[in-house]
Amino acid sequence: MGGATLLKETGPREVFCGLTSIVWLHRRMPDAFFLVVGSRTCAHLLQSAAGVMIFAEPRFGTAILEERDLAGLADAHEEVKRVVHDLLKRRPEIRTLFLVGSCPSEVIKIDLARVAEHLNQELKDHVRVLNYSGSGIETTFTQGEDGALKALAPLMPESEIDQLLLVGTLSNSVEDRLVSLFNRLGIKNVASFPPRQSEDLPSIGTGTRVLLTQPYLTETARVLKDRGAHILKAPFPMGVEGSELWMKAAAQSFNIPPSLFESVLNPLISRSKKALEKYKEKLGGKKLFLLPESQLEIPLARFLHRECGMEIIEVGTPYLNREMMQPELDLLPDKTLVMEGQHVEKQLDRVRDKKPDLVVCGMGLANPLEAEGISTKWSIELVFSPIHGIDQAADLAELFSRPLHRHNLLNQKLLTHA
Ligand code: SF4
Repeated sequence: MGGATLLKETGPREVFCGLTSIVWLHRRMPDAFFLVVGSRTCAHLLQSAAGVMIFAEPRFGTAILEERDLAGLADAHEEVKRVVHDLLKRRPEIRTLFLVGSCPSEVIKIDLARVAEHLNQELKDHVRVLNYSGSGIETTFTQGEDGALKALAPLMPESEIDQLLLVGTLSNSVEDRLVSLFNRLGIKNVASFPPRQSEDLPSIGTGTRVLLTQPYLTETARVLKDRGAHILKAPFPMGVEGSELWMKAAAQSFNIPPSLFESVLNPLISRSKKALEKYKEKLGGKKLFLLPESQLEIPLARFLHRECGMEIIEVGTPYLNREMMQPELDLLPDKTLVMEGQHVEKQLDRVRDKKPDLVVCGMGLANPLEAEGISTKWSIELVFSPIHGIDQAADLAELFSRPLHRHNLLNQKLLTHA
């Protein structure tokens, strides 16, 4: 165990950009607004990714860069400021405004940090204006959340209070369940970042122990560490095993007696292991290939191998933070191929060569692979689904067994009609 083979690859990529994370961030913080400074392509991406929201009152929008801006004929900084003032007149309830950079704003070198600084002076604390990049040149989709939280972290108030801080967006129901479990363990001060309201920022300081809920928050973790917090090392809370070890890291840090830990969690663990049994039958022995997109790939591979019996062929990840990911890498079977970065053509050649039963990949690659008879699972679905925690393990396994089931049904139909 623990001897994963780590390799790197560079070349053409096929991943969503960081703008995509706005889709879950704006749901988490309804008093915030995300203004993308970008092109019509950026606007289309967001509208199609967030689908239904265009009929509701959206909490994101795009300041479209027109040809005049792109040609340098207009003062883009003034244009963005004008759009922000118009927006705030129409939407006085906005408390935090994120200016989100894109490929076009980067190419024409709009300095959004400077625009945000000017706006903060003009708006005098009425609205807080922050900026980060969601550009596809620099970021893959989950890195958008890392950028947003990194921008928000300096605003967290200082405090030495002893507390557990859960970092990374979770669905509210999953968050409630996790907080209640920590409370039952005797950890009473549990805060979350990002919070449910952008103004209710948790405090930070040397008494803060951080548990990352998502593996893609490298930059945010660095800022929190610089502010005195202690980042707990653990696998990520996916599957029974990962979630238990994740909670154990907090319990040990707060000196919770092992007997209490076991009495609270053991009933939940045995129930969840039992619920996983039927998925072991469906997934056991099936070959799995994960293409890089969400940075969730390594924890998912660990779960699908160790708790569902899948055979891992290759685990791609857009970026590998070795230190943060070490507890996960330690749990992978010996010589598991972990590939950081992407050369999409070479990776697809390896997929075709190895003939996996299931490929986890981005939406852009799923259809062509399905057309070749290979079952796929969209990575993006895993970011939107409540997959964290011991009691979600069976639901997580279900997400992977569904495409295999569909594939079998289709094959049976084809055989019947042959
Ligand atoms: S930021 Fe770049 S990659 Fe993302 S939608 Fe806009 S143009 Fe496309």
